[in-house]
Amino acid sequence: MKNPLLNKTDLPEFENIQSSHIEPAIEFILQENRKKIKDLITEIKEPTWENFVEPIDELDEQLTRAWSPVSHMNSVVNSDDTRSAYNACLQKISKYITEFSQNEDLYKLYKKLFHSGKNLNTHQTRVLKLILDDFYLSGIDLPDDKKKLFKKNRQLLSELSSKFSENVLDCSNEWSKKITDLKDLEGLPQSIVDLAKQNAQEKNEDGWIITLDQPLYIPIMQYSDNRKLREELYIAYNTRASNDGPHDRKFDNSQIMEQILKLRHEQAQLLGFNNFAELSLAKKMASSAEEVLDFLLQLTQKSKLQAERELLELRNFAKTLGLESIEAWDFAYFSEKLKKERYKISSEEIRPFFPEDKVVLGMFHIMSKVFQVEFESVDKVQKWHQDVKFFSIKNENGELIAQFYLDLYARAKKQGGAWMDTFVGRRVTTKVNQLPVAYITCNFSPPVGKNNALLNHDEVETLFHEFGHGLHHMLTKINYPSIAGINGVAWDAVELPSQFMENFCWNPEALKIISNHYLENKPIPNEMIKKMERAKNFQSAIAMLRQIEFSLFDFLIHKEFDPKMGGRIYEILDQVREQTAVIFPPEINRFAHSFSHIFSGGYAAGYYSYKWAEVLSADAFSLFEEKGIFDTDTGKLFLENILEMGGSSDAADLFKNFRGRNPIIEPLLRYSGISQ
Ligand code: ZN
Repeated sequence: MKNPLLNKTDLPEFENIQSSHIEPAIEFILQENRKKIKDLITEIKEPTWENFVEPIDELDEQLTRAWSPVSHMNSVVNSDDTRSAYNACLQKISKYITEFSQNEDLYKLYKKLFHSGKNLNTHQTRVLKLILDDFYLSGIDLPDDKKKLFKKNRQLLSELSSKFSENVLDCSNEWSKKITDLKDLEGLPQSIVDLAKQNAQEKNEDGWIITLDQPLYIPIMQYSDNRKLREELYIAYNTRASNDGPHDRKFDNSQIMEQILKLRHEQAQLLGFNNFAELSLAKKMASSAEEVLDFLLQLTQKSKLQAERELLELRNFAKTLGLESIEAWDFAYFSEKLKKERYKISSEEIRPFFPEDKVVLGMFHIMSKVFQVEFESVDKVQKWHQDVKFFSIKNENGELIAQFYLDLYARAKKQGGAWMDTFVGRRVTTKVNQLPVAYITCNFSPPVGKNNALLNHDEVETLFHEFGHGLHHMLTKINYPSIAGINGVAWDAVELPSQFMENFCWNPEALKIISNHYLENKPIPNEMIKKMERAKNFQSAIAMLRQIEFSLFDFLIHKEFDPKMGGRIYEILDQVREQTAVIFPPEINRFAHSFSHIFSGGYAAGYYSYKWAEVLSADAFSLFEEKGIFDTDTGKLFLENILEMGGSSDAADLFKNFRGRNPIIEPLLRYSGISQ
């Protein structure tokens, strides 16, 4: 076959893939898969694992092997041609996936096999249970009239969610403020003034133009000495897409939010749940709404006193600068000044200690000690860019267990941010022995000249984070792709390995291994580590309470929804603030109207997951602290109960097996510098 996307090679042929290969390959596979699924349905009378599940897995695999390199290249070496082919295929694939999830014949075969229990081992039973749950949650079991309503609601919800974020975006874009006197921009870093100048030039105007884009909004709130400007900007930003503030009411999301909550509630009830919060928990680690609420309230109680102290410190500080009372638009500004005066440490002081090769090799060194694996650099592999490196991982017996690409530097045509993605997962059957392959992608500042790139500490932390996802994917021992590695892991637990890894970047023993001053040849000194830690924990209790406020609010508007009373969105928000807040925003604040995470993203009744996973990861790391971070027994325990197990058991059980008890919040509080 001429099309490299259809070749069955172990690794993608990145150097041979052209954008013209994309659509023909994907269309061919989708067509073949549809035909094979149809044949399977007609042929199979008695489904078994071998005659039904494995062939379907095989079809998924074909599609993944072609699609994964395409979507990866679209993100890291984007071109107009790749993008248009990618977008065209994306629609076709999503149609195919929807067809699959609504195929009643497939559903019946899975159900039949599950209930027959024929020769199924526990992992196979788990795979089938998760598949059946997904079918159920897509409404397949409903009687016809309800199914119709369910589909209609789903469609409506998807339109309303898009409209919600469109309103936020359009409303933000419409607002701008022209500045004609440079004096009004005093206090701002030059780069921000330049950005405002550039905005004006793009519109062929004199002076400076300020917008609500984050790269302008945040620095202005932090640095602008102009209090009136901060106030005006704060109000414009925090009333976006609402019924208040300076914006056009055509962007008002009030009705959309009400409708979204109502429809979500209806969907949940159609599926037999009391409310949407319960539906959201159906596939999560948290077992009940009470558990989530109790968790958030515990964190609140432990953080509140310190948050009040932090606020008092800030108020006193502002007084010394002549400000009697702090308003919402003063908070970031004085915090930044206080931080600079008492806690800040410049990232340029830290950077020379983290040359890239020292960090990467140090990280491998730590991982090989903790998890008894070996990393090896491999040449002669096809790559999408010359900067990309490729490695293999072997176990203690020298057997290959996984491979990964490492693409560290920012460059043109590469999507920003950092992430771990997968080419293939582990899949072992009597006929196949496929090992995991991952892509780990970052956007660090590239090396200057021949020197090694120097990373700042945030970048080091990001690398460890993404590598944690990578280890979860690669060190798995589960043979069934849908529950191997990160697959099948509850959403509120999937960040456990990644955030766990971040803790190494704050541990003095580990820091000695990953740091070395590129000129002075010495690891990062202890005083500097202490300083970094103090800067990290500056106002950490206030930050904790803010996240809890968002989480509780999100959870309660979904849990307490009552069709007779409507959403009561700001009423509930006020109640939440009574419980959690130390800082109360002004009456005009309409933050919920632009809370896209929950109204148009995937976080509805799930925002708590951020804190939940932090608690798990801190608690997990605390055992390493207790026993020594290189303790092989503890490493083995984490490997065997978490990393190797993927989604093969409930996350709560896996955690308990590792830690010997349920998770507790104290380690996170300790790492955040919240004293109790
Ligand atoms: Zn992550």
